[in-house]
Amino acid sequence: MQAIDKSKPVMVTGGSGYIAGWIVKYLLEEGVTVRATVRDTGLPEKVAHLNRLAESLPGKLRLFAADLLNPGAFEQAMQGCELVMHTASPFLLKGGKDPRSTFIRPALEGTRNVLAAVNAVSTVKRVVLTSSAAAIYGDLADGDAFTEEHWNTTSSETHQPYNYSKAIAEKEAWKINRSQDRWDLITINPTMVFGPALTKTTASGSVALMKQFGDGTARFGVPDFAMGMVDVRDVARAHIQAGFTPEASGRHILSAGEFQLLEIGRILKEHFGDRYPFPKKTAPKFLVYLLAPLLGTTRAFVKKNVGYRARFDNTYSIKDLNLTYRPLKETVIDHFQQLIDDGLVPKK
Ligand code: NAP
Repeated sequence: MQAIDKSKPVMVTGGSGYIAGWIVKYLLEEGVTVRATVRDTGLPEKVAHLNRLAESLPGKLRLFAADLLNPGAFEQAMQGCELVMHTASPFLLKGGKDPRSTFIRPALEGTRNVLAAVNAVSTVKRVVLTSSAAAIYGDLADGDAFTEEHWNTTSSETHQPYNYSKAIAEKEAWKINRSQDRWDLITINPTMVFGPALTKTTASGSVALMKQFGDGTARFGVPDFAMGMVDVRDVARAHIQAGFTPEASGRHILSAGEFQLLEIGRILKEHFGDRYPFPKKTAPKFLVYLLAPLLGTTRAFVKKNVGYRARFDNTYSIKDLNLTYRPLKETVIDHFQQLIDDGLVPKK
């Protein structure tokens, strides 16, 4: 149990990210001093939204350059912080040909490097790690009701490498945490995150996937794929609650419920009408299976995920973090509207 002094700076890794943007915003709203690390401080477009927030909100913001693969890069920004939020880790829809360098090294070595800095900086009392439901399960075929008791044991470097990267990074974090008793660890394990971004430049798979609802990718139908989903603003709130609630502890699945991709299409069509090529039907599994390589996925993924139904138990997040969840309809409409407003899908 750790009480965090809000007058001390809070460090957020991966400050330029989709989820991190909202965390930084909420911290600045509360008047907190934020030390945000970004991979490259020489890219003004990546941090313009953060600087704008800092101009109008009571908290103060300082940016630091830190690459996840650079041991020692995080120590300077961490000096004097009691609370560290480690969000940085690649989440891309397409992993490319080398999942080890795309996902696994930044997730695992990044976690080791950040936590080595935590061990070296004596002021730190608590770490909130942005893990994922991907650390809980690998494929929907793995079970039908997931809780914080579950661990992903089915992903590997070749099958679901992103999920694998999150599972091994979170396991490593708990191992490092158990080897000392000064700082405690809390993990946030969101299911698929949607909702408006504060930045136009994120590579987050969440934004890439929502864009596909407007660019025609899904016009002939979507797979019968049902995911847990949660609003990015609720995910950020969960980090704040985890950071500042002394008695909070453990892992937290975040999910507002389970929804099919077609449901997102229905919500968008109902609100935005026929201006965009929203999906109207589900594509048959055999077709999705055959076309998988062309769709940027694998047949193994389709086999073990399409057509399955699983529940993600959010009970503990509500109890331990006092969370309330926004309805999916609001999340989806706000997200698509932001893409239109920011010119990421054409205005029609
Ligand atoms: P995002 O916008 O792409 O954020 C990822 C952040 O990681 C970016 O700030 C990125 O920096 C940083 N990063 C990547 N590689 C790095 C490196 N080598 N060195 C330093 N920084 C690096 O994606 P997000 O959706 O907000 O994801 C944030 C966290 O949430 C991740 O840990 C992800 O696994 C987790 N998560 C996401 C979802 C979801 O549905 N979005 C669900 C569950 C968990 P650059 O801007 O320089 O690339």
